[in-house]
Amino acid sequence: GIQKARTGRLKKPFLKVEDVNRSYRPFYLQLTSMPSINYCTHKPCSPFDIEKPSSVQKQVQPKPRINTDGDKCGGTPVQLQLKEKRKKGYCECCLQKYEDLETHLLSEKHKNFAQSNQYQVVDDIVSKLVFDFVEYERDTPKKKRIKYSV
Ligand SMILES: [Zn+2]
Repeated sequence: GIQKARTGRLKKPFLKVEDVNRSYRPFYLQLTSMPSINYCTHKPCSPFDIEKPSSVQKQVQPKPRINTDGDKCGGTPVQLQLKEKRKKGYCECCLQKYEDLETHLLSEKHKNFAQSNQYQVVDDIVSKLVFDFVEYERDTPKKKRIKYSV
């Protein structure tokens, strides 16, 4: 392929990782500022959390941190929630990237896989396990058949 040779030096601060044989493209990390250990964050927040400018107010009225997985110490929980709504990812069955999980699960390719015998390897392991739960009969609510007369 035609590749323009782009030459130059990386802007500081940076981190460059390259394999010793130089068989692969190096990869870089360039940040405006490198992480620094912040001992002022409240336990158990990450010491790499950057405190918001409004952190002064927060310290005055510390909120109890209960069941808040969302990062309160400088993250962007709103954006994270938006990301989760649309679950992008990679399907290891179809060897295919997808933009939306639900849509992919309904795709023809995935449905074919899900109904195939490709899960035999799982079933083989499951068959070695012992089923020792109490198995109730299915609750059968008396079938209410709604008959529509035409
Ligand atoms: Zn799939």
